[in-house]
Amino acid sequence: MLYTYLGKSKVKIPVIGQGTFKFGEDPASAKEEIEALRFGIENGLSLIDTAEGYGKGGSERIVAEATQDCRSNVFISTKVLARNCSYQGIIDAAEASLERLKTDYIDLYFQHWPSKDYEVEETMRGMAYLVEKGLVKHIGVSNYTPELMEEAQKALGGYALACNQVGYHLNDRRIENNVLPFCQEQNITIMGYSPFGYAPELFGGLGFPHEGTEQRQTLNQIGAKYDKTAYQVALNWILRQESLVSIPKAKNIEHIKSNLGALGWNLSQEDVKLINQWFPRPAESMPLEKY
Ligand code: NAP
Repeated sequence: MLYTYLGKSKVKIPVIGQGTFKFGEDPASAKEEIEALRFGIENGLSLIDTAEGYGKGGSERIVAEATQDCRSNVFISTKVLARNCSYQGIIDAAEASLERLKTDYIDLYFQHWPSKDYEVEETMRGMAYLVEKGLVKHIGVSNYTPELMEEAQKALGGYALACNQVGYHLNDRRIENNVLPFCQEQNITIMGYSPFGYAPELFGGLGFPHEGTEQRQTLNQIGAKYDKTAYQVALNWILRQESLVSIPKAKNIEHIKSNLGALGWNLSQEDVKLINQWFPRPAESMPLEKY
């Protein structure tokens, strides 16, 4: 497994984690979700990302089941919904997450989206309180632009902003124009979500290139040279960025095996160039969206 330091800390996290969006929604899938997470942990994917908003807390409950006997070997990130980002709201939300996760600390706590109701300063005051109390180890934000990250850093004073979780995949490279250079310069880890594209409800669902398209053929052809799939090529391309980890959804053991196969080899410079031609960096930067 390949590791990177979390922000300015001495804590190492694997460059591939396990996403749990939509986990805990369907009781019939619980066994498969828990088995997949445990398989991932056993194979080095010890970073698990969840949120109070996933499955109305059900995802955190699944994570608790999967990590009960190995909590200290797992790095858990979870998120507070934007609407719960008042000072008291975030404290209450963290306590509820801790209960669902059946743990007494959260390794990394994200503000899920910028809030239209609460100032960054108020939310970060709540974050600082949670760290002071030992309930949260590291502070994160998600979907934050550089301007908002600067505000957060100012509000946090002595506490470091460790991570920003943002969308990053072949068809959405907007962070390369603002978030990525800012984070790399400031030593803030980027946790890239949706490495294989967005679900239909997010940003209009810019998904993975379909079979039969020229983009997909290019990925397939490049993959064939390394005995890898188009998904593994896409993940390897993502992970060439410094200070970045990626969190593909850990839906089943097959997906996790595939994701593990994205490590341990490197795309050649010519292949990266070819991918960049087919998936060009856009002119726009990641925009600010508040919820
Ligand atoms: P993703 O991991 O890129 O997965 C997208 C789809 O790709 C999956 O539904 C799956 O489709 C397919 N897939 C996944 N792994 C695959 C593999 N190895 N081989 C082939 N197909 C594969 O997208 P995501 O779930 O949107 O994002 C990942 C994680 O990021 C989430 O689980 C969540 O933890 C986090 N996230 C955070 C935010 C935020 O606002 N902070 C937003 C979105 C996601 P099938 O189900 O059809 O197999």
